[in-house]
Amino acid sequence: MENCIFCKIAAKQMDANRVYEDNKVVAFYDINPKTPVHILVVPKKHIDNVDEAKKEDEELLGHMILVAQQIARDKKISDKGYRLVFNVKKHAGQIVDHIHLHILGGKLLSSMA
Ligand code: AMP
Ligand code: ZN
Repeated sequence: MENCIFCKIAAKQMDANRVYEDNKVVAFYDINPKTPVHILVVPKKHIDNVDEAKKEDEELLGHMILVAQQIARDKKISDKGYRLVFNVKKHAGQIVDHIHLHILGGKLLSSMA
């Protein structure tokens, strides 16, 4: 999608600190990390958010989670644990309207509100 920064990163039209790529997803470090390890898993397909996902996206969404699991292991945060977050629209603080899964780890996280 035009003017979408995550589409541009996925298409290599924009730089990012990449940690993983396959034919369906890319993953890169968040530019404004909230935790010592903060990585985003982003599908190459543009979907605005989880609320816009369709039945046909089921496998892709599952793939994103398993890619996150592998990255967490690679970054050595899986033993102590980590958080996976999909922000959905305004009330959750979604600022980039291209679905992405946050991997947050490397420290003890506060409990959810
Ligand atoms: P969200 O609030 O769920 O929409 O999260 C979007 C995330 O994308 C934020 O944590 C931003 O810091 C991050 N972000 C925005 N632009 C970039 C970029 N060019 N490269 C890496 N991360 C970015
Ligand atoms: Zn996009």
